[in-house]
Amino acid sequence: MTGEPQPLAPGSTIGILGGGQLGRMLALAAARLGFKCHIYAPAGDTPAFDVAHSHSCAGYDDERALAAFAAAVDVVTYEFENVPLETAARLARHAPLYPPAKALKVSQDRVAEKSFLGDIGLKTADWLHDDDIEAVVAQAAGEFDGKGRRGIVKTCRLGYDGKGQVRVTDVAGLREAWQALAGSALILEWEVPFRCEVSVIAARSRTGEVRCFDIAENRHENGILRSSTVPARIRPQTAAAAHGIAERLLANLDYCGVVGVELFVVDSDAGEQLVVNEFAPRVHNSGHWTEAACTVSQFEQHIRAIAGWPLGNPARHSDAVMENLLGSEIDAVPELAGQDRTMVHVYGKREARDGRKMGHFTRLTR
Ligand code: AMP
Repeated sequence: MTGEPQPLAPGSTIGILGGGQLGRMLALAAARLGFKCHIYAPAGDTPAFDVAHSHSCAGYDDERALAAFAAAVDVVTYEFENVPLETAARLARHAPLYPPAKALKVSQDRVAEKSFLGDIGLKTADWLHDDDIEAVVAQAAGEFDGKGRRGIVKTCRLGYDGKGQVRVTDVAGLREAWQALAGSALILEWEVPFRCEVSVIAARSRTGEVRCFDIAENRHENGILRSSTVPARIRPQTAAAAHGIAERLLANLDYCGVVGVELFVVDSDAGEQLVVNEFAPRVHNSGHWTEAACTVSQFEQHIRAIAGWPLGNPARHSDAVMENLLGSEIDAVPELAGQDRTMVHVYGKREARDGRKMGHFTRLTR
């Protein structure tokens, strides 16, 4: 591609890789701005297909389907970070791809992500990585025994919602975890003694303007997000620092679109410190509250950014709590729908398996 693409006119088509709830909510937001969406996803439960102008149901390695998709869209984006890099590169030759492929490359691998964050001066959990378990044991042993630190062994790739993670407190546990997760590249992260977890949802336009939503405080259970609350119970200067972290990350990735950055808040003698857990180069579950509590949601903000439109004002008009509805909790929707100041969102998935994100609701609390 040469030159800066023009802003997309209403009626243009946005291509979205991935057919889940995030793609669905992006397509709904895009439709409100007058865009058509074309969703590309392999066969499966694809709730985004239900609300989009068109879709391709094909694998991410299907060259013919990808070529037809690229020819049918004016810009390409994605709703998940595990888009194969080759797929992204192939599409980027035919249409602008936002966020850029580098964001995918870095976020797909915990070692690449932590190295990148460290290189740009952002603090992460301490970590060890080596293909040889003995090398990891040699470095970790003194930390367990001498300092009583606890660790988490994680797969470097394809982990989400706490999957592919084992907590360890000693060398024997470390060896067991390594064995249990064998077959994948692994990383040992030292547990961060956080008081709470927060996230920042931020957007960067094609021209480098950055707007950040307010910081949300997140509660997880078994590695899955249960709720996000705004405002987060952190000091104003900590919130400003979180925004600064997002800005630095976005600038260093030459990013366009919305990002979700997960942070640990650690109390120390020097005040509240922020440690980056990870980032997702896409709209994020902990930003769903923006639908109900802001004029422009994270979904609309992403569409605006990749379309070359002005970013919306991310100011919040209410305090809010967003709760995920997992598995059969979706059955509460008829009751929730009758409650005041409550916005429900049902993803339209076919099967309500245990722990599966089926919908959410946001309650405006003030
Ligand atoms: P992740 O999939 O890596 O975001 O991990 C899911 C959840 O596990 C996080 O939201 C935290 O609650 C917890 N967690 C992950 N890594 C760490 C860490 N290094 N220290 C403390 N808690 C962690």
